[in-house]
Amino acid sequence: MEAASRRSPETAALIVGAGSGTRFGQAKAFYIWRGEPLIYWAARPFVRSGRVAQIVLVVREDDLTAAEELARRLGPGTMAVAGAASRSGSVRCGLSVLRPSIARVLVHDAARPNLSQELLGRILDHPGEAVVPYLELHDALHRREAGSTAAPVDRAGLVRVQTPQMFERRLIERAHAAGQDAADDAALAESLGVEIAFVRGEEENLKVTTRDDIGRLDRQWGGMLVGHGYDVHRLAEGRRLVVCGVEIPAQRGALGHSDADAAAHALMDAILGAAGLPDIGHLFPPSDPRYLDADSIVLLGEVMRRVWELGLRVSNADITVVLEQPRIGPHRDAMRQRLAGALKIDPERVGLKATTAEGLGPVGAGEAIQAWAVATLRSA
Ligand code: MG
Repeated sequence: MEAASRRSPETAALIVGAGSGTRFGQAKAFYIWRGEPLIYWAARPFVRSGRVAQIVLVVREDDLTAAEELARRLGPGTMAVAGAASRSGSVRCGLSVLRPSIARVLVHDAARPNLSQELLGRILDHPGEAVVPYLELHDALHRREAGSTAAPVDRAGLVRVQTPQMFERRLIERAHAAGQDAADDAALAESLGVEIAFVRGEEENLKVTTRDDIGRLDRQWGGMLVGHGYDVHRLAEGRRLVVCGVEIPAQRGALGHSDADAAAHALMDAILGAAGLPDIGHLFPPSDPRYLDADSIVLLGEVMRRVWELGLRVSNADITVVLEQPRIGPHRDAMRQRLAGALKIDPERVGLKATTAEGLGPVGAGEAIQAWAVATLRSA
């Protein structure tokens, strides 16, 4: 791999995302998926490969500042430029900022956020002067005219074409020199009489075109995120006992810096864990006086704000509280309501079970309250 990359000509990638996203309902490049704009996910495989010297994000004028910030986060060698009204025009904007040393150019759609290293490697390793990933057509094709099915189309020789498409720089510059517009760069290269080398593409490398494609991306990505949380607090006289945001009458309450709501804390850690965020000890350090006697449901609201910022929502949560006394049962509905309100989900999606420790250990002796929680998250 290292030897191959040393031999490879210096390569740039143009990530083209200056379209208005008519079929999608908004500009796609900055649609947030898994906490980042699609164009970030589209550019990242090129950074990760370590084989692309310059990456250019080509975006709408309005998105330029946001794209420059993304470019900084993606790392050195990444920059952003404003594109044009047409896709081909945007490619030309990208070509105009290439370093002189660049000998090959990859052109990739900002709306393809799921490019694998395997596919990128197949393209980069190919010696052709124009290399294009393709997929076979398996469905029958018909030409539909005026709403009715007319003649079947012979699919022999037809393929579906993806990006990234890779070209020798002199070739793509020549293809664009006339300022023509085309559906993709392969079409322009073909118009020069260049022989296109086809490499096998991947179904997973889908182009987000409609809202349904976001669901497809989620399913490919694995769909559901699961997190787990645990907490324990000592019990002492003279303290309030707050469980799942509801204060219940008790001889002994929970000791802690905040309201010491062990169940809410376990739930927050489950949600943060699923979202890949740091735990509540990091978010709300006990050393911070702002969290003295804090209502943990308010803190849960802050956790949810961060989760929603990542484009995620809670699907369901399930909590087990272990407490010798008093009984949780009479307060269960109020607790589920309070949690569901903060999570902005139906109370039926919040499981809450309580048990005792059967007199065993410190929990059984009434010295502590324990809680476990599991939460599942999905894209919003
Ligand atoms: Mg705690």
